[in-house]
Amino acid sequence: MSADFVIVGGGSAGCVLADRLSADPSCRVVLVEAGGTGTSFLVSMPAGYGKTTGEFGHSWHYHSAVEDSIDQRRMLLPRGRGLGGSSNINGLLYVRGQHADYDTWSNLGALGWGWSDVAPYFRRSETYAGGGDALRGDSGGLRVEEVSHRDATNDAVLAGFRELGVPMARDYNGADQYGAFYYQTTIHEGKRCSAADAFLRPAMRRPNLRVITGAHCRRVLFDGRRATGIEIETRRGVETIAAAREVLLSAGAYHSPKLLMLSGIGPAAHLQAMGIPVLHDSPDVGENLQDHYILTMSWRLRSRSYSYNRELGGARLLWNVLRYAATRKGPMTIPVAQTGAFVKSDPALQAPDIQFHCLPVTGDLDQVMDGGKATLSNFPGLTLGPNVLRPESRGRLRLASPDAQAVPDIVHNYLEAEADRRLSLRAMRMARELVATRALGALVDAETWPGSQCTTDDELLGYARQFGNTGYHPVGTCRMGIDTRAVLDPQLRVNGVIGLRVIDASVMPRLVSGNTNAPAIMIGEKGADMIAGGH
Ligand SMILES: Cc1cc2nc3c(=O)[nH]c(=O)nc-3n(C[C@H](O)[C@H](O)[C@H](O)COP(=O)(O)OP(=O)(O)OC[C@H]3O[C@@H](n4cnc5c(N)ncnc54)[C@H](O)[C@@H]3O)c2cc1C
Repeated sequence: MSADFVIVGGGSAGCVLADRLSADPSCRVVLVEAGGTGTSFLVSMPAGYGKTTGEFGHSWHYHSAVEDSIDQRRMLLPRGRGLGGSSNINGLLYVRGQHADYDTWSNLGALGWGWSDVAPYFRRSETYAGGGDALRGDSGGLRVEEVSHRDATNDAVLAGFRELGVPMARDYNGADQYGAFYYQTTIHEGKRCSAADAFLRPAMRRPNLRVITGAHCRRVLFDGRRATGIEIETRRGVETIAAAREVLLSAGAYHSPKLLMLSGIGPAAHLQAMGIPVLHDSPDVGENLQDHYILTMSWRLRSRSYSYNRELGGARLLWNVLRYAATRKGPMTIPVAQTGAFVKSDPALQAPDIQFHCLPVTGDLDQVMDGGKATLSNFPGLTLGPNVLRPESRGRLRLASPDAQAVPDIVHNYLEAEADRRLSLRAMRMARELVATRALGALVDAETWPGSQCTTDDELLGYARQFGNTGYHPVGTCRMGIDTRAVLDPQLRVNGVIGLRVIDASVMPRLVSGNTNAPAIMIGEKGADMIAGGH
């Protein structure tokens, strides 16, 4: 089999690439995806993420190596598997980050990726229910709507932020991120809008686009230094697909660096130790790994307060699923957080440095940490998940084995940097300040996690280490730049070889101030334009 472009991975960025490249009928495109078609009721129903993130069918279900900086825990690290990738199992929040994030990228050597360069691609990819303007799109495939299911507890959260002096944000994805809000989501008419729904499925009618599911890419093939195709493993065995023009890796921040290393591009000593012939010594492949770290805290609400603890358990859950199936409305349409805020740890700051995720539901955190599944508390509850927006801790990914199916060795080093610990403490104390406001205090009975006995810096940090969670936003492992160690040049071409690019969340030099689905889609849009321009 052969094509002009071979795309590896049908996730957030890969789906956009397949759509944009195959829009040219003279261009033959093949996309290979290790998982399945990505279609199921649980993927489509927004609250289905509660189940799909922990399942092997829809998620890779990796664990990190032992993380010394968080009490020797091994963090569960779900990534989406199947057409749509992580946009199939994500929490559905639509967040672009701050304009300054992209100007920082540019300053770090990602030339051509400043805010004014990337803004048109965010705009092009979406249709925003709030209407189009200079920044917001009105004709893109990705549907973006504000949370539809609202309640008194979330209203009180927003009133609490107002009491603390945090303004209501007019549009946190517009000119200024600062403020509190009901989240914008990738939900349309009650259904998840994944990258596959938005971009890939409409393009699959084209005769020049071929999508192959159940195909695990093992490595990129080379003739000298030119990428000529890929090797895939399917149920039929091992096959090759030839790429006449380019191979494009969109396998995500864990799998794209893994594939580069399996193909001989990475830190030479590590590749030699794995018995892989070195094609190009690229020391930063797998380095620079960044993620948000969510500091989950929860409260028991007074008995009459609104929460999802009642709605998502027992007979009410069944009723709500049936209601959803019939009407596409109700509690099963909720994203992972309904309300939130981008706040400043110090009012003198120019831009927010802490994000809040707020949802009126609580579970037993002990069980989450043990097996990745939460048991709902049998009382109404509220969870606040603040996180530091631009963490300084850096992790890395290495091969654990030359076997293409093996789980890589991933360490995030959460909370390792002193600045991250300091800001995390501030974020947790701000959560308590929010709950102590008149508006929210009237609904709250008691703090359940970590509990009011936990007061000193040491106690709070101890809790953060034991119970903090991945923000599900790994990026940076195939960083673009212009320095000699950069994995990619700013056109996303892999340094040291020809005919190979990486186009997904791994290319970010630095984590953006927010969730990463919209930025990954933007990278797919801009990457496709760069390819079209170059050929
Ligand atoms: C549980 C969870 C919750 C999240 N919540 C949010 C949120 O609310 N808002 C937000 O903005 N972001 C969220 N994110 C993050 C966001 O979804 C991701 O950053 C984004 O989807 C990454 O896009 P990507 O294209 O880099 O990779 P992915 O979308 O992960 O795509 C990679 C694809 O490559 C495939 N693949 C990997 N290896 C191979 C191989 N060897 N051969 C063939 N195929 C392969 C994978 O199966 C996958 O389909 C969340 C992520 C997760 C996992």
